[in-house]
Amino acid sequence: MKYVGAHVSASGGVFNAPKNAIKIGAKAFALFVKNQRQWSAKPYDKETIVKFKEALKQSKIQPKHVLPHDSYLINLGHPEPQKREKSLNAFIDEVYRCELLGLKKLNFHPGSHLRLIDEEECLDLIVKSLNHAIKESSEVCMVIENTAGQGSNLGYKFEHLAYIISGIEDKSRIGVCIDTCHMFTAGYDIRTKEAYDKTWQEFDKIVGFKYLQGMHLNDSKPDLGSKKDRHESLGKGKIGLDAFKFIMNDKRMDDIPLILETIDESIWDKEIKLLYSLIED
Ligand SMILES: [Zn+2]
Ligand SMILES: [Zn+2]
Repeated sequence: MKYVGAHVSASGGVFNAPKNAIKIGAKAFALFVKNQRQWSAKPYDKETIVKFKEALKQSKIQPKHVLPHDSYLINLGHPEPQKREKSLNAFIDEVYRCELLGLKKLNFHPGSHLRLIDEEECLDLIVKSLNHAIKESSEVCMVIENTAGQGSNLGYKFEHLAYIISGIEDKSRIGVCIDTCHMFTAGYDIRTKEAYDKTWQEFDKIVGFKYLQGMHLNDSKPDLGSKKDRHESLGKGKIGLDAFKFIMNDKRMDDIPLILETIDESIWDKEIKLLYSLIED
Protein backbone atom coordinates (compact mmCIF):
# COMPACT_ATOMS: atom_id res chain seq x y z
CA MET A 1 0.00 0.00 0.00
CA LYS A 2 1.11 3.55 -0.74
CA TYR A 3 1.24 6.34 1.83
CA VAL A 4 1.17 9.68 0.06
CA GLY A 5 1.19 13.09 1.72
CA ALA A 6 2.91 16.47 1.67
CA HIS A 7 5.24 18.66 3.71
CA VAL A 8 2.52 20.45 5.64
CA SER A 9 2.68 23.58 7.76
CA ALA A 10 3.27 23.31 11.49
CA SER A 11 2.70 26.99 12.11
CA GLY A 12 0.92 27.73 15.34
CA GLY A 13 2.34 24.50 16.81
CA VAL A 14 3.50 21.05 15.65
CA PHE A 15 0.07 19.65 16.59
CA ASN A 16 -1.39 21.50 13.58
CA ALA A 17 0.60 19.38 11.12
CA PRO A 18 -1.51 16.18 11.38
CA LYS A 19 -4.65 18.30 11.05
CA ASN A 20 -3.28 20.00 7.94
CA ALA A 21 -2.41 16.58 6.55
CA ILE A 22 -5.92 15.16 6.81
CA LYS A 23 -7.41 18.31 5.29
CA ILE A 24 -5.69 17.43 2.00
CA GLY A 25 -6.42 13.70 2.17
CA ALA A 26 -2.87 12.71 3.09
CA LYS A 27 -1.92 9.30 4.50
CA ALA A 28 1.59 10.53 5.37
CA PHE A 29 3.21 13.91 6.02
CA ALA A 30 6.43 15.81 6.61
CA LEU A 31 6.90 18.75 8.96
CA PHE A 32 9.56 20.92 10.56
CA VAL A 33 9.83 20.11 14.26
CA LYS A 34 10.97 23.70 14.92
CA ASN A 35 11.35 26.90 12.91
CA GLN A 36 13.60 25.77 10.06
CA ARG A 37 15.33 29.12 9.63
CA GLN A 38 16.38 29.69 13.24
CA TRP A 39 19.11 28.02 15.27
CA SER A 40 17.25 27.62 18.50
CA ALA A 41 13.71 27.27 19.72
CA LYS A 42 12.20 26.87 23.13
CA PRO A 43 11.68 23.27 24.27
CA TYR A 44 8.23 21.75 23.80
CA ASP A 45 5.95 22.08 26.80
CA LYS A 46 3.98 19.05 27.97
CA GLU A 47 0.77 20.33 26.43
CA THR A 48 2.31 20.58 22.96
CA ILE A 49 3.46 16.97 23.11
CA VAL A 50 0.07 15.71 24.33
CA LYS A 51 -1.77 17.73 21.68
CA PHE A 52 0.51 16.43 18.92
CA LYS A 53 0.05 12.82 19.93
CA GLU A 54 -3.72 13.26 20.11
CA ALA A 55 -3.87 14.95 16.71
CA LEU A 56 -1.69 12.22 15.19
CA LYS A 57 -3.89 9.50 16.63
CA GLN A 58 -7.00 11.21 15.26
CA SER A 59 -5.42 11.52 11.82
CA LYS A 60 -4.86 7.71 11.81
CA ILE A 61 -1.44 8.37 10.30
CA GLN A 62 1.22 6.05 11.71
CA PRO A 63 4.45 7.49 13.17
CA LYS A 64 6.50 5.55 10.57
CA HIS A 65 4.67 7.49 7.84
CA VAL A 66 5.72 10.85 9.28
CA LEU A 67 9.00 12.18 7.89
CA PRO A 68 10.19 15.26 9.82
CA HIS A 69 12.68 17.45 7.91
CA ASP A 70 15.59 19.11 9.68
CA SER A 71 16.50 22.81 9.59
CA TYR A 72 18.10 24.25 6.46
CA LEU A 73 20.85 25.80 8.60
CA ILE A 74 22.34 22.50 9.72
CA ASN A 75 25.54 21.30 8.00
CA LEU A 76 26.83 18.10 9.63
CA GLY A 77 29.90 18.17 7.41
CA HIS A 78 30.86 21.82 8.04
CA PRO A 79 34.63 22.16 7.57
CA GLU A 80 34.97 24.50 10.59
CA PRO A 81 34.82 22.59 13.90
CA GLN A 82 32.91 25.25 15.85
CA LYS A 83 30.25 25.65 13.18
CA ARG A 84 30.00 21.88 12.79
CA GLU A 85 29.45 21.54 16.51
CA LYS A 86 26.70 24.16 16.39
CA SER A 87 25.04 22.18 13.61
CA LEU A 88 25.42 18.89 15.44
CA ASN A 89 23.88 20.33 18.61
CA ALA A 90 20.93 21.72 16.65
CA PHE A 91 20.55 18.36 14.89
CA ILE A 92 20.55 16.41 18.16
CA ASP A 93 17.95 18.84 19.53
CA GLU A 94 15.75 17.95 16.55
CA VAL A 95 16.30 14.23 17.12
CA TYR A 96 15.15 14.70 20.73
CA ARG A 97 12.10 16.61 19.53
CA CYS A 98 11.19 13.70 17.24
CA GLU A 99 11.56 11.30 20.16
CA LEU A 100 9.34 13.45 22.37
CA LEU A 101 6.66 13.45 19.66
CA GLY A 102 6.92 9.66 19.28
CA LEU A 103 8.27 9.96 15.73
CA LYS A 104 10.66 7.45 14.21
CA LYS A 105 12.55 9.22 11.43
CA LEU A 106 14.41 12.48 10.79
CA ASN A 107 15.15 13.50 7.22
CA PHE A 108 18.23 15.68 6.62
CA HIS A 109 20.47 16.94 3.82
CA PRO A 110 23.94 15.39 4.19
CA GLY A 111 26.07 18.56 4.23
CA SER A 112 28.29 20.87 2.21
CA HIS A 113 32.08 21.10 1.93
CA LEU A 114 31.85 24.83 1.07
CA ARG A 115 34.90 24.29 -1.21
CA LEU A 116 37.14 24.30 1.86
CA ILE A 117 37.76 20.55 2.03
CA ASP A 118 37.35 17.71 -0.46
CA GLU A 119 34.25 15.54 -0.81
CA GLU A 120 35.59 12.53 1.03
CA GLU A 121 36.79 14.58 4.01
CA CYS A 122 33.36 16.16 4.23
CA LEU A 123 31.61 12.79 4.01
CA ASP A 124 33.84 11.52 6.84
CA LEU A 125 32.79 14.50 8.99
CA ILE A 126 29.12 13.77 8.26
CA VAL A 127 29.62 10.15 9.33
CA LYS A 128 31.30 11.29 12.55
CA SER A 129 28.47 13.71 13.32
CA LEU A 130 25.84 11.05 12.66
CA ASN A 131 27.51 8.40 14.80
CA HIS A 132 27.59 10.95 17.61
CA ALA A 133 23.89 11.87 17.18
CA ILE A 134 22.96 8.17 17.11
CA LYS A 135 24.85 7.51 20.36
CA GLU A 136 23.17 10.49 22.02
CA SER A 137 19.66 9.28 21.19
CA SER A 138 17.75 6.04 21.33
CA GLU A 139 15.50 5.26 18.42
CA VAL A 140 15.11 7.81 15.63
CA CYS A 141 16.30 6.65 12.20
CA MET A 142 18.54 9.25 10.53
CA VAL A 143 17.25 9.53 6.96
CA ILE A 144 19.78 10.99 4.48
CA GLU A 145 18.23 12.84 1.55
CA ASN A 146 19.84 12.74 -1.88
CA THR A 147 20.51 16.20 -3.27
CA ALA A 148 20.63 17.88 -6.68
CA GLY A 149 24.30 18.68 -6.15
CA GLN A 150 23.75 22.42 -6.22
CA GLY A 151 26.69 24.49 -4.90
CA SER A 152 28.91 22.29 -2.75
CA ASN A 153 26.11 20.05 -1.41
CA LEU A 154 27.01 16.40 -1.13
CA GLY A 155 24.59 13.53 -1.58
CA TYR A 156 23.97 13.92 -5.31
CA LYS A 157 25.48 10.51 -6.10
CA PHE A 158 24.20 7.18 -4.78
CA GLU A 159 27.86 6.53 -3.90
CA HIS A 160 27.77 9.42 -1.39
CA LEU A 161 24.77 7.88 0.39
CA ALA A 162 26.43 4.46 0.39
CA TYR A 163 29.69 5.93 1.72
CA ILE A 164 27.87 7.55 4.65
CA ILE A 165 25.93 4.37 5.43
CA SER A 166 29.13 2.30 5.37
CA GLY A 167 30.59 4.46 8.14
CA ILE A 168 27.58 4.25 10.46
CA GLU A 169 28.15 1.93 13.40
CA ASP A 170 24.49 1.11 14.09
CA LYS A 171 22.97 0.42 10.66
CA SER A 172 19.48 0.04 12.16
CA ARG A 173 19.50 3.82 12.73
CA ILE A 174 20.31 4.96 9.17
CA GLY A 175 18.15 5.23 6.06
CA VAL A 176 17.71 7.26 2.89
CA CYS A 177 15.02 9.44 1.35
CA ILE A 178 15.09 9.81 -2.42
CA ASP A 179 13.79 13.08 -3.84
CA THR A 180 12.73 12.60 -7.47
CA CYS A 181 13.58 16.18 -8.48
CA HIS A 182 17.04 16.00 -6.90
CA MET A 183 17.63 12.56 -8.41
CA PHE A 184 16.70 13.80 -11.86
CA THR A 185 18.70 17.02 -11.82
CA ALA A 186 21.65 15.10 -10.37
CA GLY A 187 21.58 13.07 -13.60
CA TYR A 188 19.47 10.00 -12.80
CA ASP A 189 16.76 9.61 -15.43
CA ILE A 190 13.37 8.10 -14.50
CA ARG A 191 11.20 9.39 -17.37
CA THR A 192 10.78 6.13 -19.29
CA LYS A 193 10.26 2.63 -17.86
CA GLU A 194 13.64 1.62 -19.20
CA ALA A 195 15.43 4.56 -17.58
CA TYR A 196 13.44 4.15 -14.36
CA ASP A 197 14.41 0.48 -14.07
CA LYS A 198 18.05 1.19 -14.80
CA THR A 199 18.24 4.01 -12.22
CA TRP A 200 16.65 1.97 -9.44
CA GLN A 201 18.78 -1.05 -10.31
CA GLU A 202 21.79 1.14 -9.77
CA PHE A 203 20.30 2.44 -6.52
CA ASP A 204 19.75 -1.09 -5.28
CA LYS A 205 23.25 -2.17 -6.20
CA ILE A 206 24.99 0.83 -4.63
CA VAL A 207 22.73 1.76 -1.68
CA GLY A 208 20.15 -1.03 -1.30
CA PHE A 209 16.35 -0.84 -1.10
CA LYS A 210 16.41 -1.95 2.52
CA TYR A 211 17.62 1.57 3.39
CA LEU A 212 14.79 3.37 1.55
CA GLN A 213 12.77 5.02 4.33
CA GLY A 214 10.88 7.63 2.34
CA MET A 215 10.61 9.64 -0.87
CA HIS A 216 9.96 13.21 -1.88
CA LEU A 217 7.76 13.30 -4.96
CA ASN A 218 8.55 16.43 -6.95
CA ASP A 219 8.60 17.23 -10.62
CA SER A 220 11.54 19.37 -11.76
CA LYS A 221 11.76 22.78 -13.41
CA PRO A 222 15.36 22.30 -14.58
CA ASP A 223 16.57 19.58 -16.94
CA LEU A 224 18.22 16.22 -16.37
CA GLY A 225 21.71 16.64 -14.92
CA SER A 226 21.40 20.42 -14.45
CA LYS A 227 22.41 20.10 -10.75
CA LYS A 228 19.76 22.65 -9.82
CA ASP A 229 17.18 22.22 -7.06
CA ARG A 230 13.91 23.70 -8.27
CA HIS A 231 10.70 21.76 -7.73
CA GLU A 232 7.63 21.83 -9.97
CA SER A 233 4.07 20.52 -9.65
CA LEU A 234 3.58 16.92 -10.83
CA GLY A 235 3.32 16.58 -14.59
CA LYS A 236 4.24 20.23 -15.19
CA GLY A 237 8.01 19.85 -15.14
CA LYS A 238 10.78 18.10 -17.04
CA ILE A 239 10.19 14.71 -15.41
CA GLY A 240 6.53 14.26 -16.38
CA LEU A 241 3.78 12.09 -14.96
CA ASP A 242 4.97 8.68 -16.19
CA ALA A 243 7.73 8.49 -13.58
CA PHE A 244 5.19 9.00 -10.80
CA LYS A 245 3.00 6.30 -12.30
CA PHE A 246 5.97 3.91 -12.19
CA ILE A 247 6.52 4.78 -8.52
CA MET A 248 2.86 4.37 -7.56
CA ASN A 249 2.91 0.90 -9.12
CA ASP A 250 6.24 -0.13 -7.65
CA LYS A 251 5.95 -2.41 -4.61
CA ARG A 252 9.39 -1.32 -3.42
CA MET A 253 7.86 2.04 -2.47
CA ASP A 254 5.12 0.45 -0.33
CA ASP A 255 4.74 1.36 3.33
CA ILE A 256 7.08 4.39 3.32
CA PRO A 257 6.10 8.08 3.40
CA LEU A 258 5.84 9.54 -0.14
CA ILE A 259 5.92 13.29 0.40
CA LEU A 260 5.02 16.09 -2.00
CA GLU A 261 7.17 19.22 -1.81
CA THR A 262 5.74 20.60 -5.03
CA ILE A 263 5.46 24.36 -5.41
CA ASP A 264 1.71 24.93 -5.40
CA GLU A 265 0.34 23.79 -2.07
CA SER A 266 -3.18 24.83 -3.04
CA ILE A 267 -3.33 21.77 -5.33
CA TRP A 268 -1.74 19.21 -2.98
CA ASP A 269 -5.14 17.59 -2.39
CA LYS A 270 -5.54 17.18 -6.17
CA GLU A 271 -1.99 15.90 -6.58
CA ILE A 272 -2.55 13.27 -3.88
CA LYS A 273 -5.75 12.13 -5.63
CA LEU A 274 -3.93 12.15 -8.95
CA LEU A 275 -1.15 9.92 -7.58
CA TYR A 276 -3.63 7.39 -6.18
CA SER A 277 -5.50 7.39 -9.50
CA LEU A 278 -2.30 6.25 -11.24
CA ILE A 279 -2.36 2.90 -9.44
CA GLU A 280 -3.24 0.07 -11.82
CA ASP A 281 -4.65 -3.14 -10.46
ZN1 LIG B 1 13.24 16.94 -0.75
ZN1 LIG C 1 14.62 20.26 -3.29
